[in-house]
Amino acid sequence: MIIYNINEAPFIKEMCDVTLKLWEKGWAERNGGNISYILKEEEVTPYLDTHQAIDETELPMPLPELAGKIFLVSGSGKYFRNVIKNPADALVILKISQDGKYYQRLWGLANGGNPTSELASHLKCHAIRLKHDPDHRVILHTHATATIAMTFVHDLDEKKFSKTLWQQITECLVVFPEGVGIVPWMVAGTIDLGLASAAKMEYCRIVIWAHHGIMGAGSNLDDALGLVETVDKAADIYLRSSAAITGIKQSITSDELRALAKTFNVTPREGIL
Ligand SMILES: [Zn+2]
Repeated sequence: MIIYNINEAPFIKEMCDVTLKLWEKGWAERNGGNISYILKEEEVTPYLDTHQAIDETELPMPLPELAGKIFLVSGSGKYFRNVIKNPADALVILKISQDGKYYQRLWGLANGGNPTSELASHLKCHAIRLKHDPDHRVILHTHATATIAMTFVHDLDEKKFSKTLWQQITECLVVFPEGVGIVPWMVAGTIDLGLASAAKMEYCRIVIWAHHGIMGAGSNLDDALGLVETVDKAADIYLRSSAAITGIKQSITSDELRALAKTFNVTPREGIL
């Protein structure tokens, strides 16, 4: 039995909060960015009949590993700064069919529209992350400014890029010991970009899309946002320090990063240090 107003649901409030934060950071200009969030059946049922589909759409590729999963997803072309004003217009709750070939719309997109054009990328990444982490729930894509800028001036070799990020702030190695994945510039919204990102998600939770943005995975919205914030802060420090006329005088060495890893009991990805 439905007893509560869905606008009061914690997952809707969290989504409003994070989309507004991303806009305030200047990372979600216009309709930039997209988020998908796995909802548990028991979280949704007080607000919504999860067996009552409004309509059904074929997925660009079958994803049987996500059968029955429920997602809260941002809408295509919707502005993050407006989500808080009208969540039912800007967001959608969808459920993957039992054969994994369709998604059923349960709620949202009240004034029409589609889920994010990056839905295929998101779903593929969710499927991969769930294989590695049963607590995984969020894929967040945003146009993190410093991270994008860094892809113009730094070697795009992802091991070199990861090491540079680790060297900027002491917490980086601890927060993302697996480093970052990087995909070269690709057309947004394509299956190819989705598959390339998902391949990186086999071994890391951050995928940087060169000259476009960043994709982060997490066990909740705070976790995914915190991860992206940490990477972007490091990128910002790298840009500021490398812009100094005198250049970088010292940095965290490989031996120091190894010591840090030992102290915090994390395993840096092989071959970086
Ligand atoms: Zn984008």
